[in-house]
Amino acid sequence: MAARAHGSKPKSNGNKNASVVSYDKASFESLDGSCASSESHIISPHPGSRELPPSRDERVDGWLRTTLRTEEPVQPAARASVTGGDLIAAAAAGDLEALRRASPSGVDEGNFDGRTCLHLAASNGRLDVVACLVDELGAATNVVDRWGGTPLDDAVRHSHAEVKEFLEGRGAVRGVSQPGEWDEGADLCDAAVKGDTSRLRRLAQQKQKGSNQADYDGRCALHLAACAGRLDVVKLLVEELGAALDVSDRWKGTPLDDAEREGQEHVAAYLLARGAPRGFRARGSSLARRSRGSLTDLPEELDDVEELDDVDVQVRVTEAWLAALRERKYVEKFDADAEDDASDAAMPLFKPGSVIAESVEFDVDSWEYDVIKLHEQTNGHSLAVVGARLLQRHSLIERCSLDTKVVQNFFAAVEANYGGNPYHNSQHAADVSVGVHLFLTEHGLMETRFSDPVACLAVILAGVVHDFAHPGTTNPHEVKAATKRHKAFGDSGVLEKFHVRAAFALMRDARLNILAPLDHAGYARARRTMVKAILATDLGRHMAYVERLNEMALVEGSRSHSNRVNSSKEQTWTSPLLDPEKCGRDLVAAVALKFADLGHACKRRNLHEEWTARITNEFWTLGERERHLGVAVSPLCDREKDIDVAKSQVGFFSFICLPFFAVVADLVDPDWQLLARLRQNLRYWQNKKNAERWLATAQLQGPLQRPVS
Ligand SMILES: [Zn+2]
Repeated sequence: MAARAHGSKPKSNGNKNASVVSYDKASFESLDGSCASSESHIISPHPGSRELPPSRDERVDGWLRTTLRTEEPVQPAARASVTGGDLIAAAAAGDLEALRRASPSGVDEGNFDGRTCLHLAASNGRLDVVACLVDELGAATNVVDRWGGTPLDDAVRHSHAEVKEFLEGRGAVRGVSQPGEWDEGADLCDAAVKGDTSRLRRLAQQKQKGSNQADYDGRCALHLAACAGRLDVVKLLVEELGAALDVSDRWKGTPLDDAEREGQEHVAAYLLARGAPRGFRARGSSLARRSRGSLTDLPEELDDVEELDDVDVQVRVTEAWLAALRERKYVEKFDADAEDDASDAAMPLFKPGSVIAESVEFDVDSWEYDVIKLHEQTNGHSLAVVGARLLQRHSLIERCSLDTKVVQNFFAAVEANYGGNPYHNSQHAADVSVGVHLFLTEHGLMETRFSDPVACLAVILAGVVHDFAHPGTTNPHEVKAATKRHKAFGDSGVLEKFHVRAAFALMRDARLNILAPLDHAGYARARRTMVKAILATDLGRHMAYVERLNEMALVEGSRSHSNRVNSSKEQTWTSPLLDPEKCGRDLVAAVALKFADLGHACKRRNLHEEWTARITNEFWTLGERERHLGVAVSPLCDREKDIDVAKSQVGFFSFICLPFFAVVADLVDPDWQLLARLRQNLRYWQNKKNAERWLATAQLQGPLQRPVS
């Protein structure tokens, strides 16, 4: 079975590169100068739509290199496949007429995940669409997506029996990455990690194997709950839902192995007390385990052979998927609280902060908020004011039983240690915190998804500390200059990990530990949300988020919904972000924080210009430091050469902001005003006169000032 799938490469992959838009110079140049029809240059939120992304030039490459990658210019190829995209959208929307109109030649082409029309139609359980694709358009039934899944896998996973029968009748087979039914338990595992007990109970009833239904790695809810140290969930699974204690995942690990490996001592003690066994390959100490039970006589060679087999299958079958898994584990393993020599050495010496006495009025519920003005009015205490105001706004002092004095000390200390950079300073943190709050409240997400006070507190604090103690550098610089931080946190997300760890190091001081009143589970939950959201602000992972959201929008976005409405009169559209079944809360938090972090791009003009001047100055300062250090000056950081601010901004908008804002709008509000504001600001930078004014100002000596018009 493995050999077959290995031999039959995904058909979509072969076509993928060919179908990608090529970025020609002419289309980039049309971005410059007047911009009568700038809308047509905007990257569509839907991969595969006819709107072509703008071209790139070296300046844009510079932007991407500085912000996205350490080396190598980014390949835009992975982003959008154009041919076949309309078919995919039509299939997702169940629009048979559009399907029949389309040319069948692209019917087997996949999107960025190698998923074809047939995958989508099978996932959605649209038998009519599936039949049309297979019988009329000749769609191949056994194309595999990037996780190795076939359309039949999708039909099975989503319990669409008729589609399953139909596909099997046409000779469809399951993909190699999904032998049997072991992919069925992924949602159980998810509920276990999230501690969503009602969903767990419901899913356990629905699954063939109850709470023992395993996911694609043979991992059950109990494995995940044990890993996450969720004793409450572990108890529920074992005592109420009858979870087996001896079930092994594909690496032959039991839940007890997981609890021990992750240092979840209370869970391990509980499992041991219930007689849970260790697994076959736990902790790499197979000798110790040999003395136990039935494994006593197993010859060592057999162990090795099995190991090899496993590796072989993994590599062959789902390389891309495993890469994603590693990334996921990497993130989950990142411990905000850890104390270790390398990261302690990377921590700054924290200064004491001074608590401000007077309270200042500041409207956190208007998009017209001006943090820079507030900073002036309060002699540099914008973050302390905003932090306190946001906690008050959501009654978090009462709801989380926080200590008022500690709260004040905490905000004062965070503010005092933020770092005096032109851009990444406490004003930016205040700005982003308000942005997170506004995004979530404006779209009804705060009351639906963050009604839990701990989650609400966590997402606000994530905004507050997301750039904590920022050294005024970039991730590529950290790697290039081999800083202490790079030594402590490795190659990816250096700064983001540093911000989180530094914030939690600050909280080791009991007088500053704002989270101290939370119970163990609440603390763990808050920490997890903060870590995930802050790590998501790494622009190196930006496109991954954009792709993930685009995939959601393809099925659940307002545009795809309105297509469906035309044909079948469905009820009114609601944002998938409001629905826990469609979008996890951590992803909502990440979207909110990422939005707020890029938020100055859709602020009113003078504020946006001010933040632009600030980031430019921060880059130039970094360039000077790099020259002193004798390392290569980062792209966009050369005070002499990188002075075309408008051009840099066009790149930033086109490749970072617009793809993200457009898909977020499609997911939360198709008439989102801020998207219009973002486009206005892009037009401003595309305007030749404005570009020239900025260039002239940048040519003057000293720090860049916003040109006065
Ligand atoms: Zn930031």
